[in-house]
Amino acid sequence: MAAFDDDHPPRADLINDCVHCGFCLPTCPTYALWGEEMDSPRGRIHLMSQGLGGEPLSDSMVTHFDRCLGCLACVTACPSGVRYDTLIADTRQQVERRHPRPLRDRALRAAIFALFPYPRRLRLLRGPLRAYQASGLRRLVGRTGLARHAPTLAMMESLAPTLSRPVRLPERIPPRGPRRAVVGMLTGCVQSAFFPDVNAATARVLAAEGCEVLIPRTQGCCGALSVHAGRRSEARAFARALIDAFSGGDLGHRDLDHRDLDYLVVNAAGCGSSLKEYGELLADDPAYAERAAALSARVRDLSELLVELGPVAPRHPLPVTVAYHDACHLAHGQGVRAQPRALLRAIPDLELREIADPELCCGSAGVWNLLNPEPARQLGERKARDVLATGARLLVTANPGCLMQIAAAVRRLGSATGDSTTGRCSAAGDSSATGGVAIGLAHTAQVLDASIRGLPVDALG
Ligand code: SF4
Ligand code: SF4
Repeated sequence: MAAFDDDHPPRADLINDCVHCGFCLPTCPTYALWGEEMDSPRGRIHLMSQGLGGEPLSDSMVTHFDRCLGCLACVTACPSGVRYDTLIADTRQQVERRHPRPLRDRALRAAIFALFPYPRRLRLLRGPLRAYQASGLRRLVGRTGLARHAPTLAMMESLAPTLSRPVRLPERIPPRGPRRAVVGMLTGCVQSAFFPDVNAATARVLAAEGCEVLIPRTQGCCGALSVHAGRRSEARAFARALIDAFSGGDLGHRDLDHRDLDYLVVNAAGCGSSLKEYGELLADDPAYAERAAALSARVRDLSELLVELGPVAPRHPLPVTVAYHDACHLAHGQGVRAQPRALLRAIPDLELREIADPELCCGSAGVWNLLNPEPARQLGERKARDVLATGARLLVTANPGCLMQIAAAVRRLGSATGDSTTGRCSAAGDSSATGGVAIGLAHTAQVLDASIRGLPVDALG
């Protein structure tokens, strides 16, 4: 059986754009790990070409596709403009539909996708997780060799942030001062369950900058995790439901229609990247294509919107050194690099430092770290070392997956004491890597919020 069927196979014209120059190779994390041509963007494009030529979808071909993080660093690096993002997305949905995976793999994927795209199910985990963290079992589990026997479970355990009390946001938050924009806000799955303070900070910053913020409770997953894993029909169902959530209902005595929204604001890079592609995801759906494209056009990352609007809320000094980490789906996926840096630099007394090899993924990549725990661990620790080498007091990024991945890696490198409920994790870093300097972690929204409210640096971990 040929590798691909007629339902959106990787396109030959996009494959043929690749001139095999290899400029993308140094930016590819899997090529950096293994140095294998077939684990590089160029090698994977070659495999797609073989598949189009009639080769069957072999186990080894699927392994090389599965190992791709979808970080899109190769898209940024490619001088020929090869659309590897479209190619791997089309390839992945073919693999998911046509390649029978071993039972263990199927069971693991089924468990992951029965949990992570469902914020209510994730929130149910908060109680047991808090009890587990309070019991001190975490330290005991660290000594059991769990990583050897159940690597995915060990990865999940290490990623889990320390939880505090949940925050329930109202469905409508009025602007402070004259209204400048009406903004829908995506609360996300992992973000709302594990980082509610990031959402609270986002809403406060938006209101302080003159936005009326609408947060429909009916919103669910945007489908990012599903679409990045090739589960396209599942992603489409999530996308339709999300469009409906931002197109109806009564929010704070105001009827919501997506046409009323000036913007839909997202504070998680992977979600923002997917939402901006709703037009393509639902292009074949006559009932939703137009609404999907209209909503996509209004999607903004928080930092993009704040720069577009320009500041009105005064910033208070925040005397802190910050290393800013580019989340892949923000930098490579959406081309948003300058805006978060500009916002951070505009805070009085804040010093921004750059991290070496900023294009290289931290190894989180949606659920890639759960499916590939050992290489994810290596990539996480490499990134953590580069972060710690900046000597910054605070690591700032705009994606919950990166926050959890880097926090876990920092914890492994040093002896850490975490408070990641708010997206923070203070860690007494490995003295060999850091010279004993401690580092905290925060979302961009939290740093802006602290500056606008005049909070002390200690409030950021
Ligand atoms: S994907 Fe782009 S950078 Fe990589 S080998 Fe092909 S043309 Fe060169
Ligand atoms: S998306 Fe990332 S991991 Fe995949 S081929 Fe491109 S650079 Fe490599």
